[in-house]
Amino acid sequence: MTHTPARKVLFYLTPMNLIARSWGVAGAVFFGQGMGGGPQHVASSVRSLHLISLIGAFMLAPAGVAGTTTPGLTGAVGHYSKGTLHQGVPLPIAGSDHYQLFPTRCSKHANHFGHKKVVAAVQDAARRVRQHYPKAPRVPVGDLSHRRGGPIPEHLSHQNGLDVDVYFLRRRPLLPCAEAPSYERRNPTTGRWEVTPDFVSSWNWTLAASFARHPGVKTIFIGGLLRRHLGRWATRHGISKKERRATMRKLHAVYCRPPRGTKMDTYRGNLCPHDDHIHVRFHCPKDSKGCRTRR
Ligand SMILES: [Zn+2]
Repeated sequence: MTHTPARKVLFYLTPMNLIARSWGVAGAVFFGQGMGGGPQHVASSVRSLHLISLIGAFMLAPAGVAGTTTPGLTGAVGHYSKGTLHQGVPLPIAGSDHYQLFPTRCSKHANHFGHKKVVAAVQDAARRVRQHYPKAPRVPVGDLSHRRGGPIPEHLSHQNGLDVDVYFLRRRPLLPCAEAPSYERRNPTTGRWEVTPDFVSSWNWTLAASFARHPGVKTIFIGGLLRRHLGRWATRHGISKKERRATMRKLHAVYCRPPRGTKMDTYRGNLCPHDDHIHVRFHCPKDSKGCRTRR
């Protein structure tokens, strides 16, 4: 699958993100940046957003200037793609069942803060996997949000502490700071898309199912091929209908193709961004009065 030299660009394809992306493109053109796509492109759009915020903060949504906190508001504020985080809690760099895949030393950004319920849910899910499978490695956790939320490089969401990237498990543990491999590939002989053999279905089903059963979890984004693979695996391996339904209902497939009508020469996103991790999105928590699920 497509790899960027650094980490993959973690876009997923929704009208909301296309709007946000067009903002980034406009910013890049306005400030004379190249149109190279990838992390640098996103970073330039982030800078543009900051500058635009400073010039005309009153024109922005009630979430306020991204990355700054508003007095009186608590928890997650604003939208996943335009929000801030108040009293965010850091995910420990390593625990008995999880570790940060991109600790501050390699990402330069401390994007490991989340709403306290999100951080607790990540630790719970990791604990569950290891209770079921004591031989499974610790769960690698990617980006959450910045300490105060707002835009972070390589993402359009992850702004209000309610999104977290959790990487799939394989027998050989992923090293911190290393790029995760894609678990979807085209078989060179048959030409058909398939899941790579190092994807451990039992561990990854339990990981996804543990998040899906959490009442605070809204959606889990996953590569389309991996979703289908996990569903079939669960049917064949005696997973109860109740667990299968509850899990599959929350797994939202992201396919390796651009949105319908998109011209490939103008498309800048990674076509298959969730082939190495799940992106877990949480509902607005009760303590977060300024949180919105719609833009
Ligand atoms: Zn994500």
